[in-house]
Amino acid sequence: MERQTKIIATMGPAVAGQQRVKELVEAGMNVARLNFSHGDHQVHREFATWVRRAAEDTGKAVALLQDIQGPKIRVGRFPGGSMDLLGDERLRISQGGDKGAAGEVFIDYPHLLEDIEVGESVVLADGLLRVEITARHADHLDGVVTQGGRLLDHKGAAFPDSHLRVPVVTDKDMVDLEFGREIDVDYVAASFVRSAADIKQVSELAGEPPVIAKIELAAAYENLDDILSVADGVMVARGDLGVELPLERIPFIQQDMLARTNAAGRLSITATEMLESMTSSPRPTRAEVTDVANAVASGTDAVMLSAETAVGDYPIRAVEAMASICVEVEQQVLRSMSDHQSVDFLTSHRTFASATAKAAVEASWNLGFSTIVGFTESGRTALLLSKYRPAARIAAFSYNQKTLRQMAMYWGVTPIEFARRDSTDRMLAAAEKYLEKNKMCELGDGVVMVAGIPPNQQASTNLMKLHVIGERTRFNPSDNFGGSSARQ
Ligand code: PEP
Repeated sequence: MERQTKIIATMGPAVAGQQRVKELVEAGMNVARLNFSHGDHQVHREFATWVRRAAEDTGKAVALLQDIQGPKIRVGRFPGGSMDLLGDERLRISQGGDKGAAGEVFIDYPHLLEDIEVGESVVLADGLLRVEITARHADHLDGVVTQGGRLLDHKGAAFPDSHLRVPVVTDKDMVDLEFGREIDVDYVAASFVRSAADIKQVSELAGEPPVIAKIELAAAYENLDDILSVADGVMVARGDLGVELPLERIPFIQQDMLARTNAAGRLSITATEMLESMTSSPRPTRAEVTDVANAVASGTDAVMLSAETAVGDYPIRAVEAMASICVEVEQQVLRSMSDHQSVDFLTSHRTFASATAKAAVEASWNLGFSTIVGFTESGRTALLLSKYRPAARIAAFSYNQKTLRQMAMYWGVTPIEFARRDSTDRMLAAAEKYLEKNKMCELGDGVVMVAGIPPNQQASTNLMKLHVIGERTRFNPSDNFGGSSARQ
């Protein structure tokens, strides 16, 4: 069986070049993330070209995910590029992006002096340092360092206790989204969103691509249900979320988010520091392997690599390691499933397509079929099949190139390019031929097929057919079916 959990890898200097990107795809990358917090448009354009070509060369569908920076607040600069802050040290905090003198840090938030109250905290450098505000003045704030460390130029600053006034889409994001349309990205990930309204705003500017909400603020987690009602997926962005909320809460928040996102029929991604040590080591730590395994067992659709592939010493090995952990966990989960853990009907999708998808997944389990075939124009049917978590692979046939790429992110889905056919019978026959020819099924195997009739009319999926490969020519459908099983 193919790997079910999908792998997102972040592009960066460590994988710059056609050959490196192709190696990533061969190692198992399903989605390439362009991180717009780094790199200029020329660099992103090059990566987009390399990814598209690598997909073509390997015959695999690969999606491009544009991750926009959003309103990230940063500190200014320091003489010599860094400043060491010691516990209990007094600090002057000024507004802007300038270079601070000794004992002074600039923060580029325009309402710093109005919005930050005495007693609130400033968290710097992804949680490495903490400062508590002790006084407000007309032109600066006073603070005391409660957790010391070294602060480098332009590191992030977060205000977990404060109510900030920040636009969710910055001027830079607008320019980047326009560029994203130009290079035809398949997904957009929106950073530092707080609400459903923020997602709608990003969505309007992004245009066609589905929008993934990065949940990295406490407010976003509080509004998760609202966000799930409009976003196409969510990312458990553990880096910034771990700055906003106590680290020890992150494992439970992750599990809760994955469960609620899957129940809402949306895409779920687990991100950040999954194999962090592989930035400088050829092997992951036991703790990292366990972390990836937990995310897979908790039902994440995709796992993401950041620095590991963007700037790490072992980017290809990191993808290979991720792929083998995923496969191992998936097989263990399958082996331990004596009974099908049936996913409840998705009440957020009370549709013909959802009911047909659920029926198909149940039938594949009951009959021990290892393949479900879906014909899909928008990818919706494939996503629904995926969300009902079959043991069988989902062979998703589409003639729509964008859909094929987007389906690369769907758990358990193998996207397959397919020419348009004018009748359901022809579609079924062509799919059967493809599966046999590509050794995904053998003569006599049973498959479940779902389709919309009439075909090619944006019809909702409303048809399920139980089918034996070759039945037209050699086999008769059997009452007591003995085809190969996903469970064997
Ligand atoms: C995160 O904070 O975990 C995250 C994925 O966002 P970024 O890498 O953009 O900081």
